[in-house]
Amino acid sequence: MLVLVVNAGSSSLKCQLIQTDGKQSLMKALAERVGTPDASMKVAFAPDMEWRPVPVPEGADVPGCLSILLDRMESDPASPIRSVEQIQAIGNRVVAGGEYFTESVLIDEDGLQKIDECSTLAPLHNPAAVACIRLLQERLPDTPQTAVFDTAFHTTMPPKAYMYPLPMRYYTDLHIRRYGAHGTSHRYAAAQAARLLDRDIRDLGLITCHLGNGGSITAVNGGVSIDTTMGLTPLEGLMMGTRSGSIDPAIVTYVMRHDGIGFDEMESILNKESGILGVSGISGDMREVMAAADDGNELAQLAIDMYVFKVQKAIGSFYAIMRRTDAVVMTAGIGENSAELREKVFDGLAHMGMILDKEKNKVVGEIGVNRIVSVDDSPIAICIVTTDEEMRIARETDAICEAQAKG
Ligand code: AMP
Repeated sequence: MLVLVVNAGSSSLKCQLIQTDGKQSLMKALAERVGTPDASMKVAFAPDMEWRPVPVPEGADVPGCLSILLDRMESDPASPIRSVEQIQAIGNRVVAGGEYFTESVLIDEDGLQKIDECSTLAPLHNPAAVACIRLLQERLPDTPQTAVFDTAFHTTMPPKAYMYPLPMRYYTDLHIRRYGAHGTSHRYAAAQAARLLDRDIRDLGLITCHLGNGGSITAVNGGVSIDTTMGLTPLEGLMMGTRSGSIDPAIVTYVMRHDGIGFDEMESILNKESGILGVSGISGDMREVMAAADDGNELAQLAIDMYVFKVQKAIGSFYAIMRRTDAVVMTAGIGENSAELREKVFDGLAHMGMILDKEKNKVVGEIGVNRIVSVDDSPIAICIVTTDEEMRIARETDAICEAQAKG
């Protein structure tokens, strides 16, 4: 099935055209800083997949960029399709599904309204997704569209995990609770680890670690999420590239009063100027910070030490609430690629029975090949699962459309 995957953010748009039968990507596109004077867009087509610039007219918004991309897919001689009518289904990544959506769905009008209602939970992302879905409905009215939610996997969390210790009216009136995120990644990592261990996922206790620019860790008991580090928004939990993760909430009011800053500025500091970037003062990109630490930069080293410490504490706290722990699963940019960081994390966790095989850990894995990097008799296995979010959304969309066709 030929599936267009659309991942719309507040000021960015990522798309891929995926042939799910051959698991092949035929087109990739990325628009960034949309809505600013520095807006840019680029597209790449198979087989060479070389980036080509796409002009973005002044004032174009995220759906506007999508529309330009659809035109380009029809007009560029390098494009693998001549008409967007050839697209058989569209898979949309949706950040917040609130309490409505426990799994990915085929989008109908009722579903779209509910996604719109959830905009209060993801004010930067959901409105962009809704606008793109509507644009595609107009342009390709007969093409089925699915919504794949970041939050759906975590709807199995019990109230003791998802409630905040706040006055109950905030839950009943404002729906303030923990929803988690990176759900498709944690679900995929857990399923792949079960396959790797050759065990039924229903019998397994897994701690899945999505460590990328954003980061979250999930306790997966018998295949279902029982707790995760992200909360109402993706700001809670681990220290991340530019996000603070969990801090004493009193810091927020203290800084706002002391510096006389408003809500937007405070939110921007916590989301864009904190985390690894904030501490190191160098970058939110782990590779750059590791290189600086190697050159003797002490703040870079501190940022790495703090990052590792928080990952260790999260794994330890989830170990405490699991019925059993069979494996820790590492995925996303840092989790998959940094042998050094994995070694630092698991150096501190051997006493819990997570024993890394340092040689296996150093072997550079191939993209798409999952592997076990713990010693053979480690009581708890350590797995690496390589992930491709767009491919997962495409395959999920294919499965939903297939199930629908079978009735
Ligand atoms: P993601 O958001 O999953 O694309 O992950 C991006 C993060 O992964 C960035 O902080 C990268 O610096 C980091 N990353 C990717 N490859 C490596 C590597 N080999 N070593 C350390 N960090 C890496």
